[in-house]
Formats: sequence, C-alpha cells, structure tokens
Amino acid sequence: MNAVPANRIRLKILSGFLGSGKTTWLRHQLHQGALRGRVVIVNEAAAAAVDDALLADLADVTIIPAGCICCTRQAEFLEVLRRHCDQSRPADLVLETSGLAEPQRIVEAIRADPVLIHHIVIDDVLVTVDAVNALAQFMSDPLVRRQVMTADRLLITKLDELGSDDLARLVATLKSLNPGAGIEGTIRGETAPLPDPGKAVDLPPLQDQAVQEPVVAVDIVIDPAMGWEVFSVWLSALLHARGDEIFRIKGVVRTPAGRVLLQCVQKSVLPPEILPETQAGGQTFDNRVAFIGRGFDQSSLTRSISCFASDKH
Ligand SMILES: [Zn+2]
Repeated sequence: MNAVPANRIRLKILSGFLGSGKTTWLRHQLHQGALRGRVVIVNEAAAAAVDDALLADLADVTIIPAGCICCTRQAEFLEVLRRHCDQSRPADLVLETSGLAEPQRIVEAIRADPVLIHHIVIDDVLVTVDAVNALAQFMSDPLVRRQVMTADRLLITKLDELGSDDLARLVATLKSLNPGAGIEGTIRGETAPLPDPGKAVDLPPLQDQAVQEPVVAVDIVIDPAMGWEVFSVWLSALLHARGDEIFRIKGVVRTPAGRVLLQCVQKSVLPPEILPETQAGGQTFDNRVAFIGRGFDQSSLTRSISCFASDKH
C-alpha cells in the first residue's frame, strides 16, 4: 500500500463478475472487523438491493441500485463520492461494484473529476474470481477478462469447489492475464492456500461485446398467491432450459421456512440462507428476485412464470 497524503480518503474497489463472491468476501471482512469504521458503497445492476439488506447490519452502507456505476449510473456515483468528501469525510471507503462494472472506467472517472482527484486515493482494486466458472467465462466473455486485467489483487473464491489440478491451471491463467496482481485464495471469505501455478489455459482472442446481446438485469416480483413451491419448480425448469444465458439470480423470497436468500450462479443454485425476519437499515425487498443475463427481458420472464403458474392450478 502506498503512503497516502494526509486527509485524503482511501478508496478500496471490490469488483468481479456476477456471482463471483464479492458480497460474501465483504461480509466476512466486516464480520472480522478487518474494515472497521469503513463506509461502504454498494452498486447493484438490479433494482432489488439485496446486498444492502445483507450488509446494513455490519456497516454504514450507501446503495446505488438499478444500473452500473461504471456507465449508466456514473454521475450518481460521483455525486455520492463528492458528498462523502464534503460531509462525512470517512478515512476509508469501500466500493462494491456491480458484477457488470469495469473497474478501470471507475478509476478513470474519479481521476478525471476535478474535485475528487484531490480528495480520493484509490488504495486497492480487488477482483473476485469464481473458481468454478472463471475459466469458462474467460473463453467467451471479454468483460470478465478485463476485470481480471485491471486488478491489483485477485481473490479466487469457492476454492473448495475445484480440484487442485484445475485450480493450478486457473492460477497460471490468471498470472498470464495479469502478471502484476497478487493472487489469494478464499473459501467463504476466509483466506485459504493456493497450489503452485500449473499450465495456463490458451485463451482465444475475443471480439468485443458488440456481437453479443447486451446483458440485462430484470426484477421479477413473485406473486404470494403462486407460492414458493411453484416458483422453485419454475426456476429449476428455467435453469435447465436457459441456464447458459442466465448468469445470476438473486433475491429474498418468503418460504414456509422463513425469509430465504436465494442465489444462483449460472446453473448452480447456492445453498439457501435463512435471513432474520427484520433487518437493520430499513427497507427489505421480499419476494423480489433479480435475473441477470442475456436473451430475455422483463415481459418474457413474466409471461413464462405466469403460464407456468396457471398450468399448475
Ligand atoms: Zn458499467
């Protein structure tokens, strides 16, 4: 870490693709007191701000939902930073970006701002790398590669879900993409040892995103009358049929067992987590689920779910 001129706010940027474990890592750090006193800014591509509810008990959180701060919500983000510079002036800020953000664009926007450049020092760019899905994502998605290439530190998450040979290949591939970054392993936020690098995977050159359909974030409200069971069967059917086009599903749903944090990363459904009935930080977003991916929109998903529900009655 560089010496920081007195009085400047240090900003840590936490980025990484959808579902790569940013919030899990951040929650763990906050629980451990590693980021004590920090103010956290969370940006979610989706409108349902699940991360806010998860982090609000642990830190002073500002949320910027419904868009990405490296592009569509950049002006609002810079405004939030200026407010912190003017008013609260915390010593440290942590920014959790949306999974679609390019950290480099955020760094450039801060550097280009005539006010912020004097008040904020970018202290660290951390990028989470999903052990299970990263190699496949590198093959086809230029965004995931660019996130890795701009990191100061790479955090490989879900280390326990990948065999050691595959992990050694992943470490080597990360080194080939970004030889300057430190690489750490984590399991549920806890640091874990990494194997020595193996042989890097040959990555094909990629055309840029223009050829692909844009990634969209869609919020679906679950009708309580439909019931959790019907919804979960619909969800499994959807993941079987369209799993490759759905990068991420996240939301808080009411089930007979209580409020459950539902998360899917590509085709895998993460173990559901029971949430407290009430949470600090105010608003909760029960029965709203965000879908992020390509090849669908709000109306096609809504139609699919209501056809499915009416078939079941
Ligand atoms: Zn963006």
